[in-house]
Amino acid sequence: MKKPKVVVLGAGYGGLMTVTRLTKHVGVNEAEITLVNKHNYHYETTWLHEACAGTLHHDRCRYEIKSVINTSRINFVQDTVTGININEKKVTLSNGELEYDYLVIALGAMPETFGIAGLKEYAFSISNINGARQLREHIEYQFATFNNDAEKKKERLSIIVGGAGFTGIEFLGELCNRVPELCREYDIDQKNVRIICVEAAPTVLPGFDPGLVDYAVNYLEGKGVEFKIGTAIKECTPDGIIVSKDDKQEEIKAGTVVWAAGVRGNSIVEEAGFENNRGRVKVNPHLLVEGHDDVFIIGDCSLIINEENNRPYPPTAQIAMQQGVTCAKNIGRLIRGQDNLEEFTPDIKGTVASLGEHNAVGVVYGKNLTGTKASIMKKVIDNRSLFLVGGPGLVLKKGKFKFF
Ligand code: FAD
Ligand code: NAD
Repeated sequence: MKKPKVVVLGAGYGGLMTVTRLTKHVGVNEAEITLVNKHNYHYETTWLHEACAGTLHHDRCRYEIKSVINTSRINFVQDTVTGININEKKVTLSNGELEYDYLVIALGAMPETFGIAGLKEYAFSISNINGARQLREHIEYQFATFNNDAEKKKERLSIIVGGAGFTGIEFLGELCNRVPELCREYDIDQKNVRIICVEAAPTVLPGFDPGLVDYAVNYLEGKGVEFKIGTAIKECTPDGIIVSKDDKQEEIKAGTVVWAAGVRGNSIVEEAGFENNRGRVKVNPHLLVEGHDDVFIIGDCSLIINEENNRPYPPTAQIAMQQGVTCAKNIGRLIRGQDNLEEFTPDIKGTVASLGEHNAVGVVYGKNLTGTKASIMKKVIDNRSLFLVGGPGLVLKKGKFKFF
């Protein structure tokens, strides 16, 4: 009998958890499993703020996909997904196409620029390894050229971070460690450097515990970060940004603008014709798309509602990985014709945001943590995620062990 074809798109947190668990829930002769990813490596999206700032080499944030999957069971295809045809059950790739019986879409997020002029052209984002390399090098170039410039324009050393959500705050923490290093390396007085964070909401880390927000703000301000709260970025130009507060506009000049003010689901999902909200598709409790019992969507492309507040869960790696486990179980059951599909309920263990290498704020199992304790917890979380995908070998190879 022809084996059903299971195709998993994306080897991020959701996709890798799905395929590593599929080999446990689906027998050798039960299905053909294919994993597609545009690179031959997986990157830890959750560590990219470090690679972008230059506090962690980008090679520490990535590993070869084939090193963590069972290649005798999973056919890995390195290619870019260009489209999904749900009627013909086909996926088009840059270099071919694939047919599927069951599809898992785990293509992650893209920056959401809300149509703000100039952001796509002039701002950097924190979204993948290539972008991280560019941003790190761009910042270093600004420092390297400062003393050569006869005018020594200070704006060259101004770094604007748009958005004080978790990504923005974690990146600011890394910049606070990196900037003193760059000043030493390029003989620059740190007084010439400005790190400015612009946040549209009335507070940093909207919705987070106010005590932890105060801790993070005080720490970052102590390191020289200037916060402009209740201030929205309206435009990005080759010279900086235009912001608006209380109907007054202001230009802030800067050599580097980083847009960390939100994400959306992958545009491939929108183009496939699923009903979606900024590239995120509401999935049913089994993680299937309503009306398509052969298409699972997980991770940042999926939208699930928190019954407690009737709002979507924020897209996180924590949820993407847990969805991968449920998705693999459900594919196994569908292949065997069983109708007892598992319902997905996120098990939120907590949220920790790093503030550079040795500081952090977070809530873990309902308990607030700050400082070294929170920072150690953050590294434990990072190592746990490696363990879940690649076991102790991957933790030893890529784990974070510098706790103090
Ligand atoms: P991803 O892990 O992003 O993987 C998507 C994969 O699809 C990638 O391998 C990509 O290369 C591939 N891909 C994309 N498009 C194509 C295509 N067209 N063709 C082929 N392949 C493609 N969440 C937490 O829970 N905890 C944290 O501490 C945390 N920290 C974060 C820090 C930062 C700086 C950022 C940016 C995010 C952080 N998040 C965190 C959020 C978390 O990273 C995402 O929610 C998570 O990565 C989503 O997983 P995913 O599997 O949906 O997508
Ligand atoms: P976010 O949507 O959580 O935060 C974006 C911030 O940008 C918001 O505070 C918003 O008010 C602000 N903003 C929006 N438009 C603006 C404008 N025009 N000008 C100025 N500010 C503007 O996005 P994120 O921080 O990238 O996080 C994305 C997802 O990843 C979230 O679900 C988050 O929980 C997750 N994440 C988690 C961690 C962690 O757990 N440590 C770290 C990073 C990201």
